[in-house]
Amino acid sequence: MIRIKEGDLLRLASMLGDMGYRVIAPTEANGVTKFSDFSAGTGIDLDYIRAINTPRDFLLPDGERLYTYRSTATVTSYGLKIRFPTVEGPCPVTINAEYSTPSGRIAFFAIHPCHANAIRYLDRVMLSDPADPYYKARRERSLIVVLECEEGDDFCFCVPAGSWKLDDGYCDILVRRSGDEFLLQPKSKAGEEAASKLNARAEADLLEEKAPKMRSSFSISTSEEMIDRCESEGLDSCTLCAACTVTCPTCYCSDIEDRFHLVDPSNVERLRKRMSCQRRCYSMIAGGNLFIKTKEDRYRWRLKHKFPFSSKAFGISGCVGCGNCIAFCPAGIDMRRTVGRGFKT
Ligand code: SF4
Ligand code: SF4
Repeated sequence: MIRIKEGDLLRLASMLGDMGYRVIAPTEANGVTKFSDFSAGTGIDLDYIRAINTPRDFLLPDGERLYTYRSTATVTSYGLKIRFPTVEGPCPVTINAEYSTPSGRIAFFAIHPCHANAIRYLDRVMLSDPADPYYKARRERSLIVVLECEEGDDFCFCVPAGSWKLDDGYCDILVRRSGDEFLLQPKSKAGEEAASKLNARAEADLLEEKAPKMRSSFSISTSEEMIDRCESEGLDSCTLCAACTVTCPTCYCSDIEDRFHLVDPSNVERLRKRMSCQRRCYSMIAGGNLFIKTKEDRYRWRLKHKFPFSSKAFGISGCVGCGNCIAFCPAGIDMRRTVGRGFKT
């Protein structure tokens, strides 16, 4: 373990940049904390509890180009004409083999333990066979510096969710505030290499993670049947804004969009765009039919995906208790009323 000053912590972020990492760190502007690119001279918000975005936005960026392909689209005097396979016979679309996966290294700097656990969940999803090549390329070259929380805000529930603890492989350097100083514990070879550049004197003690103080105490209890029986009171005030899924560090649902170039419409980009289960179009099929029809159904679907479905499919919960879906919901919809046993507002 080493003991350093705040300036040394900022120096560490700069040094990671010098080592070729794209450093993503929390920065504060107009009272809102957001993860963004760090560069020397930029401040880092080391006192934040909640950020409006999460590491997921960098590991699975919205609108990522997957590949390009040539289509049969042409511009005619009537406008864009696209030949579809079932209408006019086979469509001679060719996939451009020149797609590439990301090559840069990312250092997530001063993320919280719940964020590190959200990455653990995304790994289970995106790296399960067949692995997503774009996500995999980013994860293989990423480094994680975790800044512990001393306490949560009104919405945090990482203690009942168990996500204040860190699993092996999800923290390269652990950082704890200690008065005006910071304690640093490298937890991997890459973390040791980075921390050694600070030339700080090592202390004998080992820094182990510690649970933050929570403002409310309850346990989490989830089953499909229980979620089906949950009260629907208040759910019709849902505005379908999707803020709960946009700000969630574990939501990964996406849709595919083909973007035709105006000048050369046969040249098509295939993009992966974020999709939210709280939007009507999520379950809409041709003809306008919906499988998940009501706001209550959408809420239950979100909770089932987070808890019983994720436990069954990936062996871990899809909710890390960060509280973003509660903090950023304009309708005050709070999933702790459904899954929190003993939770009191
Ligand atoms: S953030 Fe709240 S209002 Fe918006 S979609 Fe989610 S539950 Fe509905
Ligand atoms: S469901 Fe809500 S509390 Fe759970 S990880 Fe997502 S945003 Fe955080």
